Amino acid sequence: MSYEESYLYRLRHSAAHLMAQAITELYPGVKLAIGPPIENGFYYDVETTTSIREEDLKKIEQRMRELAKLNQPIVAVSAKDREDARRIILEETTLGSGPEVAEYKLQLLDAIPEGDPITFYDQQGTDKQGNAHRFIDLCRGPHVEATGEIKHFQLMSIAGAYWRGDVKNKQLTRIYGTAFETKDDLHQYLHNLEEAKKRDHRKLGRELGLFIFSDKVGPGLPLWLPKGATLRETLNDFLRDEQRRRGYLPVVTPNIASQRLYEKSGHILTYRDKMFPFMQDDENEVFILKPMNCPFHIEIYASDLRSYRDLPVRLAEFGTVYRYEQSGELAGMLRVRGFTQDDAHLFVTPSQLGDEFKGVVDLMMVVLRQLGLSEYRVRVGTRDPESTKYVGSDENWVAAEKAIVDACNDLGLEFEVSPGDAAFYGPKLDLIIKDALGREWQMGTVQVDYNLPERFELEYVGEDGQRHRPIMIHRAPFGSLERMIGLLTEQYAGAFPFWLAPVQVNILPIADRHNGYAYAIAEALQGFVPAREVTEDELEFAPVTVESVPKWRVEVDARRETLGKKIRESQKQKVPYMIVVGDQDVENGTISVRSREDGDLGAMTLAEFVAKAGDPNA
Ligand SMILES: [Zn+2]
Ligand SMILES: [Zn+2]
Repeated sequence: MSYEESYLYRLRHSAAHLMAQAITELYPGVKLAIGPPIENGFYYDVETTTSIREEDLKKIEQRMRELAKLNQPIVAVSAKDREDARRIILEETTLGSGPEVAEYKLQLLDAIPEGDPITFYDQQGTDKQGNAHRFIDLCRGPHVEATGEIKHFQLMSIAGAYWRGDVKNKQLTRIYGTAFETKDDLHQYLHNLEEAKKRDHRKLGRELGLFIFSDKVGPGLPLWLPKGATLRETLNDFLRDEQRRRGYLPVVTPNIASQRLYEKSGHILTYRDKMFPFMQDDENEVFILKPMNCPFHIEIYASDLRSYRDLPVRLAEFGTVYRYEQSGELAGMLRVRGFTQDDAHLFVTPSQLGDEFKGVVDLMMVVLRQLGLSEYRVRVGTRDPESTKYVGSDENWVAAEKAIVDACNDLGLEFEVSPGDAAFYGPKLDLIIKDALGREWQMGTVQVDYNLPERFELEYVGEDGQRHRPIMIHRAPFGSLERMIGLLTEQYAGAFPFWLAPVQVNILPIADRHNGYAYAIAEALQGFVPAREVTEDELEFAPVTVESVPKWRVEVDARRETLGKKIRESQKQKVPYMIVVGDQDVENGTISVRSREDGDLGAMTLAEFVAKAGDPNA
């Protein structure tokens, strides 16, 4: 059942009416516009003579509670005809405030197509003091039976909104609220909102030194700070290793290309509105900022005569692309104008399609496990049986859809089939990840493509000595590095898993005389001499040795600050381990360890710590 058909949807719609009833009682003369249920609640657009502010919401909410208690039945009323509807609006919905308050409702009535039924919803009740209450609104419904069902709600915020969404129209006040069937659901929702604020990747991105945006650089173009760039490299290294094992070959391609490339690929026609304005050079050649990597990889494939023995060819690149998103659509790292895809294109024979698709999905599962993302759903986009927009033969489509479904079954993956979700050039598989707050993020995709090999006339020589057309698979397990790091930042609230943390251990010398020892430990952990020379007044020390030299990411905080301050800042940075070194440690050849998860672990040797922490790269 869709949300629009659910009880919750009706409940929220009724809560919107209840709010409008409270507002009409508290703000006589208010003009009501529209009040629909939305994804997480409802709103109503109103125009009042005295402005409504955030602090007034409690008062409105209070009145809503009183009206809900009256348990007014919500009754559908059909207008006999348009004239009758006009009369009801002017005489009944205005509740004695005068016909001028019906301005927006009359316009809404005019917008109802000729012949469509016109209905109103009427709620009435009497309070203990004997006062009559009534609210009737032009509305398609449906609603719950009575206002008493609306128990668990809260008004959330106020915003401006133009009548009919047109900036040339008058600005109205939009009041947002939410409602749930149970108290627990409401509390969970409010709690999640608080959590989401704390976890907001834009806020954490700056606090943790991951990334920023700059007005001078432009909207949607993130600047990666050292720690963010480190995190990114860690993710790339992990995937690069996996891919190398699976026979992918690295390629590197430019950020701009002649428009001839995109004419050939067809993107100029189908993707124009997502491309930045074109550039023209002095020799009349037009260049395009790269919106996708595929045509470049195709040119690499096509640069050589391929035999069936060479296939599959798997070309991988962390390719940065630029897409012209509307400035209003930009949202932190979730929607940007410049981003890097963990892109690869596989060129396969028809008989390899199944295994290769399965290999890609298997890689995606490995990625999810490594990232600790255990909740997800798999959606297979197939053809819309009604549509004729698809390219490629029927036979190919059937084979490709079967390859995807078989891959899922072989891997024991549950999946849902979404007819009509395929691209015009082939079916696909999407991964939708559910984060720690239950929100869904569309991440990696695998896409089968018959179109581009056709357009670029790609070939391989088959076993029969004849020329054949390969099939392409596009895939990006992360989707984009930007989006993935945005998601991971929120998923972990900035406390990244040990292997991924930009700084894995922060070494805190208590006094200057411990700096030498601190740097020696840093050297032992990260495998190279720190960039900083230890000065003469810093302690002489015996070299620290560990059995194997792991490649840790280490920082030494040698500032002249109190230990308390250094610890607090390190905690704020959510560094997995802190190593404190003082006189005792230097004397005994030990370190004092604090873990982000388990607190104070006490004194131990460096070798003991390394064994305890485990592989810093896995
Ligand atoms: Zn309504
Ligand atoms: Zn592609």
